[in-house]
Amino acid sequence: MAHVVVIGAGTIGSHLLPHVARMLGVTTVTVIDRDRYTLSNVGAQNIFTSDVGKSKAQVQCRRLKQIDRSLETRAFQKPVEDLPLGWLRADAILACLDSRRARMIVNQAAWRLGVPWINAGIDASGLARVQVFMPAEHAPCLECAWDASDYALVEQTYACQDDAAPPETGASSGLGALAAAVQALECEKLLAGDHDHLLAGRDVLLDTRHHRHYVTQFHRNSACRMPDHAGWAITPFESDPSSTTLEQLMAMAQTVRGSAGGVRMGVAGQQFVTALTCSSCGDRLTVALLNRGDQTRLWAPCAACGGGRTTTGFDLHDAVTLDAFPEEARRRSLSELGLLAGDVLTLSTPDIETHLELGGSVWPIAS
Ligand SMILES: [Zn+2]
Ligand SMILES: [Zn+2]
Repeated sequence: MAHVVVIGAGTIGSHLLPHVARMLGVTTVTVIDRDRYTLSNVGAQNIFTSDVGKSKAQVQCRRLKQIDRSLETRAFQKPVEDLPLGWLRADAILACLDSRRARMIVNQAAWRLGVPWINAGIDASGLARVQVFMPAEHAPCLECAWDASDYALVEQTYACQDDAAPPETGASSGLGALAAAVQALECEKLLAGDHDHLLAGRDVLLDTRHHRHYVTQFHRNSACRMPDHAGWAITPFESDPSSTTLEQLMAMAQTVRGSAGGVRMGVAGQQFVTALTCSSCGDRLTVALLNRGDQTRLWAPCAACGGGRTTTGFDLHDAVTLDAFPEEARRRSLSELGLLAGDVLTLSTPDIETHLELGGSVWPIAS
């Protein structure tokens, strides 16, 4: 009865998913990919021309069902960073991503949830790489091996990120299938509990051009920048975000040590926006909303001059104090503030931190 989350259904993921469907014990598969298939994908990805134009996640979920009708499948056509943390809770997360930043997000989410994750990557020079990470306080994570140059690369890709599809890796179908097969074999060991032969805390690199094979051990870096090595104790909060107001949450927060006014609230992986600024006349509008997927792009134009609204860095916050919310916002439901079932709230005072996972319908945008 295993649940596997696959993130990325491209050159590796499209070859991986049929293996996952056939894996012993797998009953639920979640597929996450923000993109639709294009004609150029047919050259290296395990798809047909009839899939072009369709959601990658939905195409793959349909295929999973063709292999095993009894599988429960969940398709999300979203970037992984927009999903509530709780939606990634599974027995294994398999990442087939081409962005360093997305891998960093998956790594942190896996540690917070305590879910093992298997990373796969390829490049056009003929290299296929698979890494297995087992979250534990003293176990190495992806970022443990990173130095300043790795973080500089994350910043670079973040700065030029837009809605355009990421550049193709230029890697072939065969190389994607190789990485996918190695990743699937590690997942089988993980699910079977064969920890003696699992690649835990290690990296396997296959250099197909020179027929070489390298295995490298990772080490826990005490200076690692990933802040959640100890993992999170997450308590289910059996309350639907559409029927819980911020006021009710604040009353609940009073049970957290300290006064409600001093309690700060954050949402895992997301930021709050507290003001929108008109880019033409500078008019400021006070708001209190989650900025998931850069919601500000959907904002109504400035009431004064019709100009577009933007946010400045000063108006984006990882956490906000509950009493900073305007009176009007406190009577609104958590879903009106942009929260979803499965979001993990972190309520903190200077000396205590509590993580609550919002209940309710967990798959509102599943298909
Ligand atoms: Zn680390
Ligand atoms: Zn204006």
